[in-house]
Amino acid sequence: MTPAPPAESTRVAVVGCGVVGATTAAELARRDADVTVFEAGDIASGASGRAAGVCYDAFAGKLDAEIAEAALAAFRERDALTDCPYVWLAREGDDRNAEAMADHVPRMQERGRDVEFIDPDDLDSRWPRLRTDDVERAAIAHDAGYVDTGDYTRETAQFAIAAGADIREETPARIDADGRVNGEDYDAVVVAAGVHTPRLVAAAGLPIPVKAYRVQAFLSVETPLSAAVPMCYDATGGYYLRPRDGRLFVGDGTVPEAKDPTDWDRTADQWFVEECADYLQQAVGQSVPEFRSWAGLCTATPDGDPLVGERAPGIYVATGFQGHGFMRGPAIGERLAEAVLGGEAPDAFDPRRFAPDEDFDIVEGMSLEE
Ligand SMILES: Cc1cc2nc3c(=O)[nH]c(=O)nc-3n(C[C@H](O)[C@H](O)[C@H](O)COP(=O)(O)OP(=O)(O)OC[C@H]3O[C@@H](n4cnc5c(N)ncnc54)[C@H](O)[C@@H]3O)c2cc1C
Repeated sequence: MTPAPPAESTRVAVVGCGVVGATTAAELARRDADVTVFEAGDIASGASGRAAGVCYDAFAGKLDAEIAEAALAAFRERDALTDCPYVWLAREGDDRNAEAMADHVPRMQERGRDVEFIDPDDLDSRWPRLRTDDVERAAIAHDAGYVDTGDYTRETAQFAIAAGADIREETPARIDADGRVNGEDYDAVVVAAGVHTPRLVAAAGLPIPVKAYRVQAFLSVETPLSAAVPMCYDATGGYYLRPRDGRLFVGDGTVPEAKDPTDWDRTADQWFVEECADYLQQAVGQSVPEFRSWAGLCTATPDGDPLVGERAPGIYVATGFQGHGFMRGPAIGERLAEAVLGGEAPDAFDPRRFAPDEDFDIVEGMSLEE
């Protein structure tokens, strides 16, 4: 009997090689798709190379919790996650955030998340340098840690190449009205181009309601305090803090205004750098000088949930992560690869759930509110 000829591979173009594009490409190639990745710059040259790398699974929504849990497992499998608990604080007088925490923590626990309220005295004995005397309410997520986002993304791209993907750096992609990428036909196109995704798909006649906004990052000089703080989101101060290579990383300096992703300021604002110094004085009792600071762009959607799935037959998008795309990237990429090869993408993230021209205000991603 003559053996059946091998089934033809599905030809997929992936646009963008950040964490989402790299993971999608690796998962597609592992499933024997014929994958070409177009990356306008270098691998991880977008938000994935500028991120803080804070990762946790403490979400109250079922799908969010499942995705974050799967992503943490993927980071651990690759030995990429440095375990470090994640603490949220609401300080005295901040009833809004204290109440939001009181509402969220039990819901996260119902989802099986390893999250609990923590007494400020317990916080103090565990991390004496963290100022806790005015903490009204605090919670701790035990299943959390941080990842070197650029290294992880580049390594994922190497896995994609090893599985047979062709990654073309310094190769911007254009998608035409017939869904061709740089003039070539594919069975499917995945647009994971971060803040550039709306512009690219709009040019193909497929607008999506996603806006780009600036967030900022401050890295201190080396300090022993780096070993003395947990990862922490101070909801009252509006800052997050994490140890990073012997330094302190402080974010987020959100500027909730829509930005043109082809023309924006990559340097941190002076007010942000000054506020970070003040914030460190309040939070850890010492104003640690700046080593480096920068800005990056995040993507916002009308409901704060991402747009992941098929926008039109054969054209898939993955964007709108509202500052939480890295920690979900590995699981989003896997689900997207499955959807491209005939599976289901999560309904809740369906990119067709809004009017394409829906207007909305940008809501900061780092928030205890939903
Ligand atoms: C300062 C900062 C801190 C952050 N901290 C965290 C955090 O702690 N935890 C977390 O989960 N998330 C964090 N985020 C958000 C996170 O970085 C993003 O959600 C995530 O990296 C998005 O990944 P992506 O692959 O979708 O997009 P990107 O990483 O932006 O990748 C898109 C890629 O597409 C390429 N591209 C664009 N146009 C084209 C084109 N025409 N052709 C080909 N390629 C193109 C770009 O060059 C880029 O490499 C942070 C973001 C910033 C800016």
